[in-house]
Amino acid sequence: MTGAQPKTAHARELYIAGKWTPQSGTGSIDVLSASTEEVIGSVPEGTAADVDRAVRAARAAFDGHWGQTDVGERAEWLRKLADALKQRAEQIAVTISQEVGSPIQMSTNIQAGLPVLVTNSYAQLITELKLEQEIGNSLVVREPFGVVGAITPWNYPLHQIMAKVAPALAAGCTVVLKPSEVAPLNALLLAEACDAIGLPAGVLNIVTGYGPAVGEAIASHPMVDMVSFTGSVRAGKRVAALAAETIKKVTLELGGKSAFVVLDDAPLEKAIPAGARNAMLNSGQTCSAWTRMVVPRSLYQKALELAAQAIGSLKVGDPLDPSTRLGPLISATQRERVEGYIAKGKQEGARVVMGGGRPAGFDKGYYVEPTIFADVQSKMTIAQEEIFGPVLSVLPYDTEDDAVRMANDTIYGLAGGVWSGDPDRAMRVARRMRTGQVDVNGGKYNPLAPFGGYKHSGIGRELGMFGLEEYFQIKSIAR
Ligand code: NAD
Repeated sequence: MTGAQPKTAHARELYIAGKWTPQSGTGSIDVLSASTEEVIGSVPEGTAADVDRAVRAARAAFDGHWGQTDVGERAEWLRKLADALKQRAEQIAVTISQEVGSPIQMSTNIQAGLPVLVTNSYAQLITELKLEQEIGNSLVVREPFGVVGAITPWNYPLHQIMAKVAPALAAGCTVVLKPSEVAPLNALLLAEACDAIGLPAGVLNIVTGYGPAVGEAIASHPMVDMVSFTGSVRAGKRVAALAAETIKKVTLELGGKSAFVVLDDAPLEKAIPAGARNAMLNSGQTCSAWTRMVVPRSLYQKALELAAQAIGSLKVGDPLDPSTRLGPLISATQRERVEGYIAKGKQEGARVVMGGGRPAGFDKGYYVEPTIFADVQSKMTIAQEEIFGPVLSVLPYDTEDDAVRMANDTIYGLAGGVWSGDPDRAMRVARRMRTGQVDVNGGKYNPLAPFGGYKHSGIGRELGMFGLEEYFQIKSIAR
């Protein structure tokens, strides 16, 4: 089965109970290339009946053995899984460049590289977590939560999957995964990897399909103990409401509208390009992207020029070309959405200083020009709602307090950045931001640090030890 194309190209079977099993319905979902608009594969359109089979397999695996396996054994399985993903890294990177449109350089480093790193990190962390402690006359023990339903989006598809599957498996949980219907092919490569290493049956089950059918069936299934969801606020609310009926634990990683606060003593030549590149990563289809740049009024013009220069130097092109830095958006729907926001920005009085249309020379692919809006007011739609495209809004401010107020002035609180010539001042501002993650003066991405949101950006944390702790129940045994 290793490296085999057939399962990933046009799959008609679902990976349930350690086997490729026929789907219960007959529907299939075509997967399109973001750059050529051609069909590059298809997956089964799963149903509630498929979810039921998958949940029962996960339940049987949890109750039968996986929930009681020894920590060292689970760590070993995770190491094997990480190796199997690493062996397929090139295929994973190319697949994600095709289905999502991410430039191959980024797909290689992040889309294919990060899942391997995260999976290995959990092989290590599970051996470090304290599973028992004495509190007075009680022994307090951590036990695996049970059967986990994982529902994931398309923008960093395999990373978002492994940020759930790896800690869940490490904790001793079993999983039913529903990957995004827009970018599901990478999840089938994960199934191949599980199959190749002989992961015990039922530990990871994958049901492809649409949210309202498969996602809702997972969120409502009485045998699922916990749902871990990443995606939009709209779908997250629906999942949480359904899960409430059976009192499931729910973690939500939702949208963002993160701010990058540039203080008046910041080295602009370093800070502005860093902020601008952050906003454009994966063509802006990044939940933690700094889509609002908050800049002192006195430095506004200079900041706009530097941002335009930095973004203008990013080559827009075919995602499979190694020199490309900005690929297309994932789909026609996403492009329509983004173009709608650009029109709204203009209508509400923001000024386009760069882009705003479709790039010349691309008659195929869902491309949108990288776009910068100036004169953006905090109350404008483009400063409040998540656009999920290559659109940066630059907002002027007068005082530091105004900057903090603006940074906190949305329903979201996922990420953010601050830059100042004085690191202590930057830290003070970072502490005032109501958000789950802040980078100070270009702080490097840390895959072991907790990731997650304040306010409507979510509930709970992923990655590192905090991400692992989500997958345990706590039991007190008084003696
Ligand atoms: P989406 O909410 O449309 O879909 C996410 C997943 O939920 C998909 O698998 C989808 O099929 C499923 N789904 C949709 N409706 C559902 C329903 N009624 N019940 C159950 N499941 C349902 O989001 P998307 O378009 O795939 O991804 C983009 C969104 O995800 C953005 O808002 C982005 O900010 C967010 N996101 C957040 C994070 C984070 O970690 N905070 C990471 C990536 C993306």
